[in-house]
Order: sequence, then structure tokens, then C-alpha cells
Amino acid sequence: MAFQPNTKGPQYKEKTETYYIHGRRKQRTVVRMLCECSNHAERVTGDLVYPERPELYRKLFFLCLRCNRYVGCHAGSGIPMGTLANQEVRRLRATAHQWFDRLWRDHGYTRGAAYHAMKVAVGVRHIGWEQEEGCKAVTEWAKAEIVRCQMKEPA
Ligand SMILES: [Zn+2]
Repeated sequence: MAFQPNTKGPQYKEKTETYYIHGRRKQRTVVRMLCECSNHAERVTGDLVYPERPELYRKLFFLCLRCNRYVGCHAGSGIPMGTLANQEVRRLRATAHQWFDRLWRDHGYTRGAAYHAMKVAVGVRHIGWEQEEGCKAVTEWAKAEIVRCQMKEPA
């Protein structure tokens, strides 16, 4: 089975909903993202995702209230940093990022060159756009690339 990297990034939309309050017709705009479970995740504040962490209350997330997949947003813009992810995918993304970041922190790549090399080698543009397979592919590639770099580095 061929691994298909995500080339489009997170897809989210504004939806206007009509409601009535005190006899008046009102509208509200909901920003939402289709979840793999077929429910729509809504953009919410951090208190819904991390009730035990007040420092995150003002941060924005897309959260699926059916399956608990979520993803954080860029500060200020409310743009999602990636696609919705369950706990396992969030763990795999963190691992992939740790290995990938070593390339530009410790092994002579610039950050931009590391992203370019990942795109060419694995097809992945951003780790946060990927699910299980993409994260595992990045981790394997980054580990192999680190070994290759170490062979060229002076002992
Ligand atoms: Zn869901």
C-alpha cells in the first residue's frame, strides 16, 4: 500500500448559523473542520481541551466533540497548525518532529533545506498535516539521514 502524503493541509470553513433569541433572528459564524469520524470539529478555546491548564485557556483549537481528535491553532490568526489528530498521532508527530529537528539543529542542514529534503525524500510538507503513516515515514527517513550526516562529520 503506497503512502499518500497530505499535499493540501488542513481544510476548514466558516459556516453561518441562524438562531433566535428574545424573538430576534440572529446569526453566528462557526469555524469548523471535517473530522475523520465524519463529525465536524469546531474551533474552540483551550479551556475545552485542557481544563487543567489555565495558561492555554485563550489559545484556539479545533476539537471534535465526538472522538476527541484535536489540533492547535497558530497564535493570533486562528489558523490550524495541522490536521485533527488523536492521541497516538499526536505522539507520532512529536517523535517525527524530534528526529526531523535534529537535522537542522545538529547536522548542518538549514531549517529550510531540511523541509525541502523531507518533501523530496518522503513527500511530506509538514509533519502536522500527516497521520500515522506519514509520521512514521518522516521518523525513518530522518533517522537514516542523521546516520548519513554522521558518517560525513569529523569524529
Ligand atoms: Zn471526530
